Amino acid sequence: MSGLNGTNHSLKPLSPEYDPWDPIDSLKQFGRHTLTSVEMTVTHLCNMRCEHCAVGDSLVMKEEPFLPLSLMLKRLDEVENLQTISITGGEPALMEKTVDEIIVPLLKYARERGVRSQINSNLTLDIGRYEKMLPYLDVMHISHNYTDADNFYEVGFANTSRPAPRAAAARLYEKMMDNAVKLSSMGMFISAESMINYRTHAKLPEIHQLVQEMGCRRHEVHPMYASNFAASLPVLSLEDMRVAIHRLLDHRNPELWMLFGTLPFFACSGNPQDQELLRRMRTERNVTVRNDPDGRNRVNVNMFTGNVYVTDFADIPAFGNIHQQKLDDIFGSWINEHPLYQTVNCHCAAANCCGPNLLVADMYYKHDDFKTKQAIM
Ligand code: SF4
Repeated sequence: MSGLNGTNHSLKPLSPEYDPWDPIDSLKQFGRHTLTSVEMTVTHLCNMRCEHCAVGDSLVMKEEPFLPLSLMLKRLDEVENLQTISITGGEPALMEKTVDEIIVPLLKYARERGVRSQINSNLTLDIGRYEKMLPYLDVMHISHNYTDADNFYEVGFANTSRPAPRAAAARLYEKMMDNAVKLSSMGMFISAESMINYRTHAKLPEIHQLVQEMGCRRHEVHPMYASNFAASLPVLSLEDMRVAIHRLLDHRNPELWMLFGTLPFFACSGNPQDQELLRRMRTERNVTVRNDPDGRNRVNVNMFTGNVYVTDFADIPAFGNIHQQKLDDIFGSWINEHPLYQTVNCHCAAANCCGPNLLVADMYYKHDDFKTKQAIM
């Protein structure tokens, strides 16, 4: 086996037609929401402090010890229908020891089981750390919300306790760009995520251009989540967001896969502009709209405490712990008993939609009951 995504013939290539993270696929396959995806938080350390960081409040300067990797692997092994894993932080590669002792073993486990893998990274560190993941990793997921090094400095170090030197930030920016180009040329599938927020909404075509220059194989676009550091930032109006998406679609490269996720536009909307945008996204080539996996086919495990959450960034308390429980059982109690899940548990098969992300619904549709709505097709 070559081990590189796209060149390993035993693995189905990820494509606009095949995105195993989308909970709509597992819903169709099993007839109900089923745990097929596990996200693991492997660090709370990070060399950046982004303005919009959705986990900013949980970042630390010194890490607690890991729970035994054998316990995590046992709990993954018990997940009957596991199809994907995601690894997140912090910056997961910040400590080389974490790469060697946690990340690579988890990726190897996934590859051996035929489970697809993703890691979230800022890609600003020594390339050797990322090269170690290359043989086993399916998706290197990075954030890209910048148009140049100055913009990276303003956004990426907005929440540092002491001001970061601009020159040091510029070096990290160059490193990130250079790493992306080199790793892409080695065969790594890099998916760059840009958020739509008050800073980026007018600059998405420019950001899209840079994403292509980095050799990325996919450009993801999501609204900013109003969580943690981002909670106090201005919320973009739905009108501005619609305009931003249309502008991006007008200027994008139609050869590049463009994945929109956790959007605040739904097929049940009575607003003709929402319907027009959704129609456009449904029919444009190489454009996909992913349903939100969090709490639908995925849970998040904190690899220090063993606590299980619906996502790494929402303020919803843990609803289980892998020291005592199996992940399938924890997921079952979330789906069957948790009152918050019930608020967004809708499904319209004709629209391939399984409801809004909890945070996005709270930002834009606080008083709407999606359980009483139906897609207008
Ligand atoms: S699944 Fe929910 S959010 Fe999606 S179209 Fe239907 S009612 Fe609206």
